[in-house]
Amino acid sequence: MPDLVVAGAGMAGLVAAAEAASRGARVVVHEKGDRPGGSMLLSSGVVWRYRRFEDFRRECPDGTPELQSLVHERLDDDLAWLEGLGARVLDRSTGNPRTVGLRFDTRSLVDALTAHGGELRLRDPLREIADGAPVVLATGGFQANRDLVRRWITPEADGLFLRAAPWSTGDGLRLGLDAGASTTNGMGELYGRAMPAPPARIPETQFVELAQLYARHAVVESVAGERYEPRTWSEIDVVQWLARQRGARGIYRVAAAQLAARVRDRTVGEMVDGAVRAGAPVRRFADGVAVEVVAGITTTLGGLAVDRFARAAPGVYAAGADVGGIATGGYASGLAAALVLGRIAAASALEGR
Ligand SMILES: Cc1cc2nc3c(=O)[nH]c(=O)nc-3n(C[C@H](O)[C@H](O)[C@H](O)COP(=O)(O)OP(=O)(O)OC[C@H]3O[C@@H](n4cnc5c(N)ncnc54)[C@H](O)[C@@H]3O)c2cc1C
Repeated sequence: MPDLVVAGAGMAGLVAAAEAASRGARVVVHEKGDRPGGSMLLSSGVVWRYRRFEDFRRECPDGTPELQSLVHERLDDDLAWLEGLGARVLDRSTGNPRTVGLRFDTRSLVDALTAHGGELRLRDPLREIADGAPVVLATGGFQANRDLVRRWITPEADGLFLRAAPWSTGDGLRLGLDAGASTTNGMGELYGRAMPAPPARIPETQFVELAQLYARHAVVESVAGERYEPRTWSEIDVVQWLARQRGARGIYRVAAAQLAARVRDRTVGEMVDGAVRAGAPVRRFADGVAVEVVAGITTTLGGLAVDRFARAAPGVYAAGADVGGIATGGYASGLAAALVLGRIAAASALEGR
């Protein structure tokens, strides 16, 4: 019998497995998909925290301060641990003055973690929690389950674009609740990006580059003509609003003068060109352009409630997007939460906390 069972070979699960293996434990990692890495492999790989804890609290006011403080306090050490496993750092800055962290090559992250993380069983989802070894639930949230998204987040669930790996259908949530865990607040929240609207074709390799991240330079409207004023630098509020409009769609109207504006490493015009190439409905006028966008769901933000030992129920621990209460009410690094809670979950499980 293994000392630890892990459900999910994404960021949180692979970290938990590597932490457990480093403590000499026998670990079995069940992965539902046909490859390790989950959504982490598709991500930008930026593992970050707010520079100041007060900013974290202000940006994510409805999260649990105790969990947020764990992520904030431990992240720098955990990043050094990750680097020590051999994960390749591409950039030592996040490019955002509000935040600090590292950008990793996600392929090398997966390779480094799997090389250190015990036995990996692909196409072998954890279906039930058996008596015996403790379990870490790290199945990545429930964004790929239309019924759960409709129930918890938006009646427009069918219109959403799934900007994530396809296997995170809420298995961890179900298993945790069956074991006696409870849910956090923020079950109706999502993290995502506005994406080029259908009939655009967006392969998973282009989830990052095709994001339409210029709501603050546009007039944002629903397809019914209702306007929305962006409120956050991350534009997470815009995506949450779009997700609740008809068809989960909207229109970004950009004046010609705004097309040269820069957002991170790209101009607005370059992002619009990406939407055109992908096949989205884009209309050009003498004085600007109108781009039809759809809300892309990346992760759910609500999930299982855990304590500071990442414990969700007796013998059942959780990490990553299966856990709620960290980014609630705003936007924070999902990879950072997965890293910190993943290590804590494995340590707690082996120490019998
Ligand atoms: C395009 C994109 C860009 C992103 N950019 C960033 C970024 O720069 N910075 C950042 O912090 N976050 C980013 N994110 C979010 C980040 O990737 C997630 O927050 C993070 O991967 C969550 O980790 P996780 O381990 O919870 O889930 P995942 O990494 O998705 O892993 C979950 C795994 O569990 C598996 N699984 C599901 N059900 C079962 C089951 N029953 N049994 C076994 N396995 C199961 C899934 O197949 C999957 O492999 C991005 C995401 C995307 C898609």
